[in-house]
Amino acid sequence: MKFNTKAIHAGQKPEETTGAVMPPIFQTSTYAQKAPNDHQGYDYARVGNPTRTSLEKLIAGLEGADECACFASGVAAIDAVMKTLKPGDHVISTNDLYGGTYRLFTTVFEPYGIEFSFVDMTDLNEIENAIQENTKLVWMETPTNPLLRIIDIEAVVDLCDGKDILTVVDNTFASPYLQRPLSLGADAVMHSTTKYLGGHSDAIGGAVATSNKEFMEKLRFQIKTSGAVPGPMDCYLILRGIKTLHVRVQRSVENARKIADYLNNHSAVGEVFYPGLESHPQHKIAAKQMDDFGAMVSFSLKDDSIEKASQFMSKTSIFTLAESLGGVESLISHPASMTHGSIPREVRLKAGLKDSLIRLSVGIEDVEDLINDLHQAF
Ligand SMILES: *Cc1c(COP(=O)(O)O)cnc(C)c1O
Repeated sequence: MKFNTKAIHAGQKPEETTGAVMPPIFQTSTYAQKAPNDHQGYDYARVGNPTRTSLEKLIAGLEGADECACFASGVAAIDAVMKTLKPGDHVISTNDLYGGTYRLFTTVFEPYGIEFSFVDMTDLNEIENAIQENTKLVWMETPTNPLLRIIDIEAVVDLCDGKDILTVVDNTFASPYLQRPLSLGADAVMHSTTKYLGGHSDAIGGAVATSNKEFMEKLRFQIKTSGAVPGPMDCYLILRGIKTLHVRVQRSVENARKIADYLNNHSAVGEVFYPGLESHPQHKIAAKQMDDFGAMVSFSLKDDSIEKASQFMSKTSIFTLAESLGGVESLISHPASMTHGSIPREVRLKAGLKDSLIRLSVGIEDVEDLINDLHQAF
């Protein structure tokens, strides 16, 4: 099956008792048993729910994984992955990481005795030098937020080959329509389904897909034991969203490319960060491992200041000023004061994240309207 067909049909079949084409929202906490432990595969809804199962099968299909486990949020999915480790284990991750992931790693898991190295993952030497005897997991995120750097997944997997290191990719920014890390050799792929998979800014969720049976068993144990599970209604919304993933992302990317070109030629713009531009430092890697370059575009202003950036952002009317990404509607945000506000200015600047940096999540509106909106804000 090709991707566009899978987005609608992977792991889905009409519901058995009624023939309902869409999976019902099984709003139940428990399931009747015929005799103790004689049930139809479900005993208690923390452990499993048929609406959730439908969603898990769909995401597994899209990522080319044997299985998928869904969670109450993206960070709950990451939390479950980290709980498969034990104190004294070492994790290597990128220094350009989603803020919530960084907070979870450093304020929850570091105090519990997990060790972390945050390195520039666009430099393979840095990763190689960071590998220790006790390294058990490499956490990648590509494209990164908000500078849209690209990590070479295959090359990182090669570095870990033959060692007892699990490679996991946060695939939220690309979506499986554009990038399938398991096909590049990664052991597992994680999503904030809140973003492109859900696609309509109406539900929070997370997922981990893998063909590593032992790892999936550990995740299922986490689900049963820690219980950060999504409700059936949210599973339904995300499943419904995924059915148009390919059409939405394709249009968003078309729009993003035009917007990146527009910004690239604008005299008030400093730098444009978009993996589809040939000037992007990892353009070739993006072209190799992604089917297209995504719908996130960041740029700085020539007049680099927080004030200029906030003036600009208060003037857009179609681009809504908000955190998050990946929905049908275009959003605009200011990393320095919003998502990355807790990072000290010097650290932020050193990482290349300027005061005036503006991040766009390009949606599927008419691109002329989007460009006009940016034009009048300039
Ligand atoms: C949003 C996001 C997360 C966290 O997901 P939630 O659903 O908000 O918990 C993790 N990684 C990336 C790249 C994200 O954009």
